[in-house]
Amino acid sequence: MPAFSSDDERRHEEAQAHIRATIMNEFGEVMRRTGLPPMVVMRLAAQAVGAIYRESAAAHSGSDACPCGWCPHERADIDVLCSALTAACIRQPTRDLRLLRIAGTA
Ligand SMILES: [Zn+2]
Repeated sequence: MPAFSSDDERRHEEAQAHIRATIMNEFGEVMRRTGLPPMVVMRLAAQAVGAIYRESAAAHSGSDACPCGWCPHERADIDVLCSALTAACIRQPTRDLRLLRIAGTA
């Protein structure tokens, strides 16, 4: 894994905060407007990310591909996306460690 500079880290955190805030706003807006339940809207958001991957991968394949250098590897890329979704859904590791410490002293 490449080493990240503090500038890379800052840009990563800014991008993460922006995407999270944008999706959170749209999530609330869609639920208010449509009355659809949270898990239905969550599933639509996950499907949208998959569709964005599909379109981006298509734009980086074939004879008229984007020249930025990204080569999609569908199997590995989908694993990365699934892992990121799972990791973000489960409890944060710091909280788990605290619970483990409490359990360890009981
Ligand atoms: Zn590109």
